[in-house]
Amino acid sequence: MTRSMDKIVALCKRRGFIFQNSEIYGGQNGFWDYGPLGTELKRNVRDVWYQDMILAHNELLQDAGAPSTYQMVGLESAIVMHPQVWKCSGHYDLFHDMMVDCRACKGRFRQDHMADTPCPLKPSKTVGEHKTCELTEPREFNLMMKTIIGALGTEEDAAYLRPETAQGIFVNFRNVVDSSRVKLPFGICQVGKSFRNEITPRNFTFRSREFEQMEIEFFCHPDQSRDWYTYWRDRRYNWYLNLGISKDHLILRDHDAEELAHYSVGTADIEYAFPFLGEGEYGELEGIAHRGDFDLRSHQEGKLSKNQDGELEVERTAEGQPKYRGSGKDLTYFDDQSRERFLPHVIEPSAGADRGTLAFLCDAYFEDQQPDEKGKMQERIVMRFHPRIAPVKVAVFPLTKKDGMPERAAALFGEIKQAGLSCQYDQQGRIGRRYRRQDEIGTPFCLTVDDETATDNCVTLRDRDTLEQERIPVDRVTDEILQRLKA
Ligand code: ATP
Repeated sequence: MTRSMDKIVALCKRRGFIFQNSEIYGGQNGFWDYGPLGTELKRNVRDVWYQDMILAHNELLQDAGAPSTYQMVGLESAIVMHPQVWKCSGHYDLFHDMMVDCRACKGRFRQDHMADTPCPLKPSKTVGEHKTCELTEPREFNLMMKTIIGALGTEEDAAYLRPETAQGIFVNFRNVVDSSRVKLPFGICQVGKSFRNEITPRNFTFRSREFEQMEIEFFCHPDQSRDWYTYWRDRRYNWYLNLGISKDHLILRDHDAEELAHYSVGTADIEYAFPFLGEGEYGELEGIAHRGDFDLRSHQEGKLSKNQDGELEVERTAEGQPKYRGSGKDLTYFDDQSRERFLPHVIEPSAGADRGTLAFLCDAYFEDQQPDEKGKMQERIVMRFHPRIAPVKVAVFPLTKKDGMPERAAALFGEIKQAGLSCQYDQQGRIGRRYRRQDEIGTPFCLTVDDETATDNCVTLRDRDTLEQERIPVDRVTDEILQRLKA
């Protein structure tokens, strides 16, 4: 089976995973809406991330591969932050892509994507190929979305929607240390919306203008930072594998020295073989970066840049003043064991919730053939989501209207929902059709309440992947499913 993006996008619309934003008005490029199933799917991606990274993390035990024990806490900062944040972080000056306009078709293109961007004029294939193409010189285009705060509406009231959640963590570093008794090493985690005015949003939700990130800023002693970098790189890669992403589709790619940001000692990307890419090509799901003390130092002292010797120092104007002044607040950490004061180093695993969701969708898509009730082979689409990610965990099918069975099925449905599991009740159509409907949205478990239930007090539990069917006592079935979801 070849995985085709067209089929996945069609399924997303047909079954209510993802819709084009403002579709009834013709849509809005770079923005997407999640339908009822997509909402559950993406919520699971976020929740499983938060559960695995923060709630289930045991700070008393040393994790395999970790240099020591560590703590993890959460944070939720505002989307709009003080404009100085972006000046000191470097986003105001440096967060841009190079764009090229075409005077003939009025198209606007990202310079580094031109080779694989179609030219709107036919019969040419890529930008610049048509004989009437008239391309401008590349120009810088800042990706931050601007907004105006307050009623006056002057340029002085300009602010930005955050292009990443990370800066909200850095500027709250002091607050978290002072208020929550965390000790180094520790991570602060945040899930939230980010905005980038992408020049060419494309490939479904992969490159959007509004998207969600799941970011960790992990603060540690400079001497241990390389070991922590390796730990987080491997841990995050394994997280996707443990949630069912096929090893054949996922790579961990270390950046070459020239690809590294100027402050970074090491960066690796976790990349996925999305079906819209060519053979052997991968798209970034998550970046894990060793950021040194760049961020805390910038917010303490002011915007940094490299001097002639390659060292970071505060960037200055011709008059010798800091170009963008930092907060002047002391962001150092005092270790009361070693009596040492220092600026912690940072490891940043930065994941996209929408790109992750898209990868889970693409990897789950399978087509096969299954016999219907008459034994005739029928095409089946089955989304093999990992049960923790699946938007619906269980479906309940009453097969008979006799002997109070619909009532028993309804009671079971209520019990499963009470246990906090997303569950659907389906009493329409033949059993085979009901199974197909659930397979197509990736429901791992289906329960049928049938004639025999009245006598043996059991229901049939059918597994989406093995297709095995088992009789389970009604009063044990919710526990059984909870057990299987944990496995
Ligand atoms: P790219 O090179 O693809 O533009 P990036 O390296 O700029 O990505 P980061 O700044 O490292 O991305 O952001 C961290 C994560 O946020 C990415 O790995 C990705 O999952 C997500 N992300 C970034 N930009 C977008 C976008 N425009 N749409 C959806 N997700 C995004």
